[in-house]
Amino acid sequence: MTGSVRRVAIVAAMPEELGALLRAMSPGQVVQRAGRSFHLGHWCGHEVVAVLSRIGKVAAATTTTLLLSEFGVDRVLFTGVAGGLGDGVRVGDVVVADALLQHDMDASPLFPRFELPGLGLDRLWADADLVKLAGQAATEVLAEAALHGLIEATPRVHQGLVVSGDIFVDTTAESAALRLALPEALAVEMEGAALAQVCHDFGVPFAVIRTISDRADDAAHVDFQRFVLEVASRYSLAVVRAMLERLPP
Ligand code: SAH
Repeated sequence: MTGSVRRVAIVAAMPEELGALLRAMSPGQVVQRAGRSFHLGHWCGHEVVAVLSRIGKVAAATTTTLLLSEFGVDRVLFTGVAGGLGDGVRVGDVVVADALLQHDMDASPLFPRFELPGLGLDRLWADADLVKLAGQAATEVLAEAALHGLIEATPRVHQGLVVSGDIFVDTTAESAALRLALPEALAVEMEGAALAQVCHDFGVPFAVIRTISDRADDAAHVDFQRFVLEVASRYSLAVVRAMLERLPP
């Protein structure tokens, strides 16, 4: 349907975030596929398509497959929130994934725990250039937010492993188990590694940027609600804009 158009996909996890992105984009056509609304438009000199991933790995994989097969997308940026796992990864920090892994993938003893059967890998690597741009964009946005008093302490930008699974991790026991199994994991969420697997199969570069909304512990639910409403959508918008401004055509 799109001929040779090159588009940057912007995938948001939650309606609050997508809404902020759509208000910033110059509006265009909206295409419906599989119950999803794909918003075509322009932003910062790029052709873009913005869509809600929906929650969970299958939903994210379906959304990503449609983006890559029907919308001429050559780069994918995912923005959302996640639970912090790594030491020093606090609410309000941003984690840029350099690799993603499905923490609930376990086909042992046929394959090692976490390995994706057929791929011979457990981690899928985000695009190094996009990761670098995302890190720069997030650093700029957090410094500005601190300057304008939107946040109290200056949050940090981290880069490293993000793990995904079909579970909202909201007990201290669950997050401790994850940290034990995957000590290098910085954050846990529910979509990134699925999007990564589809992008890997299609050979399309991607980046996943997550603002930490909670610590994936017994207080996660309360922190999550408050954070999404007050901060996450503003961060998403600013980080995506700062990335698009830096992104080559
Ligand atoms: N229970 C929440 C929604 C859960 S879905 C509610 O009441 O609305 C949480 C979304 O944020 C998912 O898209 C996931 O990717 C991300 N997320 C944030 N914190 C998370 C955590 N601790 N564990 C798993 N996913 C988390």
